[in-house]
Amino acid sequence: MPLYEFECGACAHIFERVMKVNEDLGGLVCPACGAVNPKKLIGRTRFHSRERYEERLARRMAARAAESKGAGNR
Ligand SMILES: [Zn+2]
Repeated sequence: MPLYEFECGACAHIFERVMKVNEDLGGLVCPACGAVNPKKLIGRTRFHSRERYEERLARRMAARAAESKGAGNR
C-alpha cells in the first residue's frame, strides 16, 4: 500500500499515512490538532519527506510565532 503525506490546513502539521488506493479520506484527521480534511501531498516520497518536513517545521514555527503575536496584540 502506498504511503502518503498529508498537510493539515489548520496547523500545517505534516503526517504520513498508509492508505488503500480508494480509501475515503473523509475520516482523516490531523493527529496534532484534530482538524479534518488534510491536504494530500502528491508525489512526495519518504525519501524527500525528511528535508521537506524540516522546511515545513520551520515555516510552522514561524506561523505559530506570528499567530501568538497577533493574539497578543488583541
Ligand atoms: Zn492540524
